[in-house]
Amino acid sequence: MIDELKALDGFRDDVRSWCEQHVPPGWREAQAGADHRQFAEFHRWWGAELRDGGYFAPHWPTELGGGGFDLLQQVILFEELARADAPRNSLYQVALYNAGPTIIHAGTDEQKAKFLPDIVQGAVWCQGFSEPNAGSDLASIETRAVRDGDEYVVTGQKVWTSMALEADWCILLVRTDPTAPKRKGITYLVMDMRSQGIEIRPIKQSNGQSEFCETFLDEVRVPVAYRLGAENDGWGVTNSTLASERGVVIVELAERLRRNGLGAFIDAVRTWTDEAGRPMSSDAGVRDLVARRHAETAVLRQLLLTMVTNIVRRGGVGNEASIVKLVYSELLQGLMNDATSLQGLSGQIERPPVMSAGWETGDWMYDYLNSFAWTIGGGTSEIMRNIIGERALGLPREPGVA
Ligand SMILES: Cc1cc2nc3c(=O)[nH]c(=O)nc-3n(C[C@H](O)[C@H](O)[C@H](O)COP(=O)(O)OP(=O)(O)OC[C@H]3O[C@@H](n4cnc5c(N)ncnc54)[C@H](O)[C@@H]3O)c2cc1C
Repeated sequence: MIDELKALDGFRDDVRSWCEQHVPPGWREAQAGADHRQFAEFHRWWGAELRDGGYFAPHWPTELGGGGFDLLQQVILFEELARADAPRNSLYQVALYNAGPTIIHAGTDEQKAKFLPDIVQGAVWCQGFSEPNAGSDLASIETRAVRDGDEYVVTGQKVWTSMALEADWCILLVRTDPTAPKRKGITYLVMDMRSQGIEIRPIKQSNGQSEFCETFLDEVRVPVAYRLGAENDGWGVTNSTLASERGVVIVELAERLRRNGLGAFIDAVRTWTDEAGRPMSSDAGVRDLVARRHAETAVLRQLLLTMVTNIVRRGGVGNEASIVKLVYSELLQGLMNDATSLQGLSGQIERPPVMSAGWETGDWMYDYLNSFAWTIGGGTSEIMRNIIGERALGLPREPGVA
């Protein structure tokens, strides 16, 4: 046991010194005003740095080109990346945490051989799940795929497709049997984003960026060989994608919130004054607010530790993942809301948006706007509450919801 702990300490030292040598100082400031293309370029460079360091796919087995790190090593890696305020590896999020694990779980040997090495080499993937009438109720998707020989012909519309402009490949949900009950007629495909018939329209977001897009599909041909799982059996495959997307990446996010978010908030409160020029830090209400956020951040950390311990014991993520996601995203939004309110009108002066594919721009107003990505994406807070109520607390299911 002592040897194991020593090995973990050694691993932490290695990651820390790698970060000291590789995280570019001032990268956040340098990204201010970057457009989408520049942002992607920077993140491709950072992905290559991580790959050279052996940290690009920490959770993948070594024989597939990953780091082969166990759970505790992954936690340490994410803690250290957060500690060093490294850029997040966000351009490859879908490739590494959604598409890759799904292919490992449900792909044939040929599919694994075709797609996995590409992912480790830096292919960008996007996720074509949500549609205008199918978000929380994902099983309602309407995008149609009709079999034509050894291809599917796909027509329909996806929405909120993050990084669609950059993506090489897309994990795509389509309806292959419109007469079957809605979860039974879905098929899971992998689509080449360079195929004919794909039109991508970026969506202008409240933060001024266009990270996600509408994706229109007009008779796009996808080889049957690129189907994951059986025809009409895509719902089960989808669940494996959704389960893996909330992996231990949340450790990194929560650690960044504790170090960068809360830490920066406390630093800012120390410098802010009210309209009469009095330090805000001497106001009892403000002190109470800061103390509350501090306590909530400590609770989040405790919940994370419980989640990690349970994963080690059970070998898989349980309901804690939904609890942690809910607590993290609502705390993040609350903290950014507090900071924006205390900063006052001066915080609303328009500045060049900072790209970070997350909330950590260091600009409270943008970070507040960006925080909605976390209370909506990956399952809204209401859906998280439904899951916690039904699966963790055993409350009756919501009437009328399949
Ligand atoms: C930053 C970001 C990135 C995203 N990236 C992608 C991506 O790459 N690919 C992709 O496919 N999708 C992506 N999404 C879409 C995301 O998965 C959906 O936005 C999400 O599932 C919610 O669906 P919706 O927007 O259709 O809202 P709806 O499902 O229409 O929900 C509207 C409101 O109703 C509430 N609601 C709905 N059903 C219930 C219920 N049963 N009980 C209680 N309340 C309910 C919701 O909580 C919400 O407040 C992204 C979203 C965001 C914000």
